Amino acid sequence: MKLIDVTVPLNASLATYPGNTPFSLEGIKRIARGDSSNVSSIHMSAHCGTHVDAPRHFFDGGGDADSLPLDLLIGRTRVIEITSRTGIEAADLAASNLSEDIRVLIKTSNSRLWGDPEFHKDYVGVSESGAKHLVEHGIKVVGVDYLSVERFRFPGAPAHHILLGAGTIVIEGLNLSEVDPGVYDMYCLPLRVADSDGAPARVVLRRS
Ligand SMILES: [Zn+2]
Repeated sequence: MKLIDVTVPLNASLATYPGNTPFSLEGIKRIARGDSSNVSSIHMSAHCGTHVDAPRHFFDGGGDADSLPLDLLIGRTRVIEITSRTGIEAADLAASNLSEDIRVLIKTSNSRLWGDPEFHKDYVGVSESGAKHLVEHGIKVVGVDYLSVERFRFPGAPAHHILLGAGTIVIEGLNLSEVDPGVYDMYCLPLRVADSDGAPARVVLRRS
């Protein structure tokens, strides 16, 4: 059984979305300092690295990370590759004929950015027309390979509003560099963080 881990490691060299709390590990207890065990505290934004956005991210009163439906986050998933370097438009997605899919992961040039601790503002995001296309074609889960589905600070955040508003789950921060386009089984397990607008997740693909 070949598993492909598409989760980015949480470490000090992980790029962070501007304004979000970067990941850090703080040694609360250390054997080297005379403590009986090693115990760390983890500091990070709920949107660090590979994570799932809950509806509450853009809608007060929307569902929190604890209410994300696992039956949508596990199952047959299509990985498509888009070569656009700006916004992912409806026309870019149309070529993939998504009508039989409910889960899609979009591989772009973004996956090559993960080796760099610097945040790249010119990453590829989903445009308004792209988000509408996904919803209209019945997509319930969409995953992207950098830290936001939205183009950087795009006015009105249309992709988040359209997708989360339609009940489509958004997975962000995937590393798809080792994944060829095709059909996989996905296991996406966000932590049950009550009241949170997002939660870190482990995401693994298995060739189906
Ligand atoms: Zn997010």
